[in-house]
Amino acid sequence: MTERVWTGGDLPTFVTHLECSLTGERYPADTLQNLSKAGRPLLARYDLDGLRRALPRKALATRPQTLWRYRELLPVRRTENVISLGEVVTPLIPLRRIANRLAKGGEILVKDEGRLPTGSFKARGLALAVSMAKELGVSAMAMPTNGNAGAAMAAYCSRAGIKAYVFCPDDTPAVNIREIAMQGAEVFLVDGLIDDCGKLVAEGEREVGWFNCSTLRGPYRIEGKKTMGIELAEQLGWQLPDVILYPTGGGTGIIGMWKAFAELEEIGWIERKRPRMVVVQAEGCAPMVKAWEKGVEHAPRWKNAHTFAAGIRVPQAIGDFLILRAVRESGGFAIAVTEDAIAAAWREVAAEEGLLLCPETAATYAAYKQALADGRIRTDDRVVLFNCASGLKYPMAEAGRRLTLGSAVDWRELTRA
Ligand SMILES: *Cc1c(COP(=O)(O)O)cnc(C)c1O
Repeated sequence: MTERVWTGGDLPTFVTHLECSLTGERYPADTLQNLSKAGRPLLARYDLDGLRRALPRKALATRPQTLWRYRELLPVRRTENVISLGEVVTPLIPLRRIANRLAKGGEILVKDEGRLPTGSFKARGLALAVSMAKELGVSAMAMPTNGNAGAAMAAYCSRAGIKAYVFCPDDTPAVNIREIAMQGAEVFLVDGLIDDCGKLVAEGEREVGWFNCSTLRGPYRIEGKKTMGIELAEQLGWQLPDVILYPTGGGTGIIGMWKAFAELEEIGWIERKRPRMVVVQAEGCAPMVKAWEKGVEHAPRWKNAHTFAAGIRVPQAIGDFLILRAVRESGGFAIAVTEDAIAAAWREVAAEEGLLLCPETAATYAAYKQALADGRIRTDDRVVLFNCASGLKYPMAEAGRRLTLGSAVDWRELTRA
């Protein structure tokens, strides 16, 4: 038995190979890969038996509080290729007032991913994807994005010295477009949706050979997002919650966490208990909800996709069957919420708990209330919502009352509300 303890230097990963998520066909690790021959996502596989023997979970105790503390379960081989902007362990923040009001005896925890570099959890996926791109000698990469993924790719690519090209719908929030440009990428505005942008990235890939970093096209963004699941388990003393509500776009997060839980059980760090995984989408773009309700494995493209929660405006997901598999295997469900419910939920949590969510996560809170009302979630459930991005990245309603210096202020009227 080899005892491997990370001291900040090199630490061999336990990655062994890549595997087609549809057919199980094997591909070598440490080579540049995109989709499998069957046109489906590849998943990284590890020597979990070896890992179980080599690494007791208590070995984590002395490691730095970053996602790199799980390096044995991540694919990067050489420390010099780790591209990092300080990926902190994100806090779990209880919504105590709201739980007291709606669900006495239960618990609502928000995992606040807005604290990560570039202000969103896309940093997890892109930290891994760009580190692996560096390890495998990539010099240029491109992606379609609704904003946050592009910002994360731009930032990590600049740090790695890799050229970045980002394609977004032309109605992407301005702050996202500008942060992408500020962080050194070429950014293009397309008069279409994210999958239209994806077609341009694929065309450019054929023409100029950049690496296509679209959602699930390479195996490594999932590995980064997987750390959400490991981190959550560790923070909760290796006891998973009853329910996870996840605002689902391309599904990297839900697929990644589901993969993490399987790996953690296999290495003996958690027991069998799994959370029910709940896919949350907006009524204006709910392909996964429709597929789940119909009981089918694949979701056709959603027409006229619209919602102001930009991160979940994804009309079609290449990993649809993996998302639906996680929902079904976990005994979870898929649920859609209206734009009004999202907007109301956004204000409610910010005003009552002082936590400015992103609208996508506001959708999960709206879904929580809906599911509590229809009995699919119980008041005594321990529920986790992922706050995927800082609320500050989104356009907010105008606010503020004007005061003119020198004119009388009616202080009683001013403090009456
Ligand atoms: C990307 C994104 C999502 C969707 O996450 P997936 O893992 O791709 O399904 C949700 N919310 C925000 C803010 C995002 O940036």
